[in-house]
Amino acid sequence: MTTPLAREIAAEIAADGPISIARYMARCLGDPRHGYYTTRIPFGQDGDFVTAPEVSQVFGELIGAWLIAAWEDQGAPSPVRLVELGPGRGTLMADILRVARLRPGFLQATHVDLVETSPRLRDAQRDRLADAPCPITWHERIEEVPGGPAFVVANEFFDALPIRQFMRTETDWHERVIGLDDTGALAFGLGPARLDDAALTGLPSAQPGTILERQPIADAIMATLATRIATEGGALLAIDYGYLRPGFGDTLQAVKSHAYAPVLETPGEADLTAHVNFAALAGAAECSGAVAHGPMTQAAFLLALGLVERAQKLAAGKDDTAFATLEAALNRLAGAEEMGELFKVLAVTSPGIRPPPF
Ligand code: SAH
Repeated sequence: MTTPLAREIAAEIAADGPISIARYMARCLGDPRHGYYTTRIPFGQDGDFVTAPEVSQVFGELIGAWLIAAWEDQGAPSPVRLVELGPGRGTLMADILRVARLRPGFLQATHVDLVETSPRLRDAQRDRLADAPCPITWHERIEEVPGGPAFVVANEFFDALPIRQFMRTETDWHERVIGLDDTGALAFGLGPARLDDAALTGLPSAQPGTILERQPIADAIMATLATRIATEGGALLAIDYGYLRPGFGDTLQAVKSHAYAPVLETPGEADLTAHVNFAALAGAAECSGAVAHGPMTQAAFLLALGLVERAQKLAAGKDDTAFATLEAALNRLAGAEEMGELFKVLAVTSPGIRPPPF
């Protein structure tokens, strides 16, 4: 077996039978001893992948400007919770709070709540946000965030939540599971759980072998937050790679050192994600009484918020190297071949509010 976690998962399967893909993802990412986010800080050039806040401070500044504008549009409620889900290294929140310093009223009203399961990343966030201008509390779960109006941001959070997969057979949809092959290695197979027809409404018929994904945890977290926003006020921005309409396909992917890796090969040592089903997230928000806006592409969102103008300001008076670095960052964030089109932004608000640029 390739990794310590692979051995532990194989032992679990040998004892209790095949596991769901959701269980595999949860162990790979969050295992208390060997989980990917438990054991490392994966972001950055030296890590496995680079997220938008790590590309340029402009990203977080524009998100901050949006959140503060949404707060003002709702009558500047005080007190207010500024919530981030899965804050990584704390870079996005640091950039949001830098913009917030321009709005003392917002800072005075704000309590920051960070929802993070990895103790190691919590430490990194604590270091990064040591000079934050308002109080910060960390939480394991979204339900722990105290009540009141909440302005919530989640960048590359929903893609890390465990999904389930179902495969079409000649007659049925069966859950895809992970068991052991003849050599004792982890291998995909089909389990007894089935999908009933109600889950397939709106989808075309599928050939045997077709895969359908479900994101029950992402949908449940969205429902919890949307219920809260609908009743107590606030707004949410979810930014992630994903698809706009329900569809088929296997989007489970492992990434290690900036390249795709086989999903079952290095559990605990590669990032494991799935594309986000934005239609399902928007549906979960609307079922909970909130209003979903968009999704729109990250490029359209950032350009409408003044990405180019903000970058020009930052570049003013800088040398050619600094200018080229900023230009590359803009292209990374908004270029069609880069993050611009693949990443989508979904906003959720209470009814009766339409936050620009949606
Ligand atoms: N938002 C950051 C990091 C994205 S990586 C950025 O853009 O750079 C995903 C983050 O979500 C990590 O901080 C990870 O530890 C956290 N995470 C994953 N699953 C989680 C869960 N169930 N609850 C809370 N945080 C979670």
